[in-house]
Amino acid sequence: MMDEIIISGLKIFAWHGVYEEERDKGQNFIVNATLLLDTSKAGDSDSLDDSVDYGKVCLYINDFMRVSRFQTLEALANNLARKIMVKFPLTQSIKLEIQKPEAPIPLPFDTVSVKIERSWHKAYIATGSNMGESEELIKNALENLDADENCRVLRSSKMYRSRAYGGVEQEDFFNSVFCMETLYSPIELLTRLQTEEREAGRERLVKWGPRTLDLDILYYDDIILERDHLRIPHLDMSNRDFVLLPLSEIAPYKRHPILGLTTLEMLARVKETYVLTLKEEE
Ligand code: ATP
Ligand code: CA
Ligand code: CA
Repeated sequence: MMDEIIISGLKIFAWHGVYEEERDKGQNFIVNATLLLDTSKAGDSDSLDDSVDYGKVCLYINDFMRVSRFQTLEALANNLARKIMVKFPLTQSIKLEIQKPEAPIPLPFDTVSVKIERSWHKAYIATGSNMGESEELIKNALENLDADENCRVLRSSKMYRSRAYGGVEQEDFFNSVFCMETLYSPIELLTRLQTEEREAGRERLVKWGPRTLDLDILYYDDIILERDHLRIPHLDMSNRDFVLLPLSEIAPYKRHPILGLTTLEMLARVKETYVLTLKEEE
């Protein structure tokens, strides 16, 4: 159970809306926000440094809403919720409601509002490279992702060398796995990782062919997602020791949400081995 810090009825005058009049004259908005976090440290230390200062959050919401201009409450809420979690990093998730009691509706009403919930999500990513300065390319990708305010890289495995998977004759690979927290949705995260692949010069020529950088989503929280362009957990991860071995360093007991097996249990069942060495042992 997470603790909650609750802000209710915060009144802010701002200029969001679809109609010109709303953007010219402005109107009142009412904000309700519930921040979910662990307050036990501040509960012991009695220091605000160990928690989130609700006064600062209120001022931040006010600044954000007065400076920005959005047409819809949906976009305003989505952007504001993420920014609050970036600015107040102890916040694990947020429920945010923005009301527009003076919305231009020609009927009597109390208020209209949009209410959303946003969280930091935990994702595990597998890396691979066998072209160019592989280790450098992988390291850069992690640094770039960590520098993105919507991502926080938490832990990375060591680097492994492995022979190529999938039958195409090619150079040995560098492989690792890392774990991050992200505000991106699964689809947004895939797009973000593909940008990183492109920047590393990735071209898709042959299936399972040589590549400068490959970034695959293994897990995203415990979700199971089956879209044409995105399957989570990664469909083939349980057959790949070059994924499971590095993963076992950082998440040995994490269970695959479909197979119900831990990383170590999956690793013990892998039939063919691809990992040659730990990079350091070369
Ligand atoms: P494999 O996915 O078997 O390791 P690959 O990494 O060589 O093969 P790519 O050419 O990098 O394959 O990706 C092909 C497509 O796989 C991507 O365009 C993406 O839409 C899709 N895809 C599906 N699920 C995932 C996932 N979990 N992570 C990354 N890409 C995925
Ligand atoms: Ca892959
Ligand atoms: Ca891939």
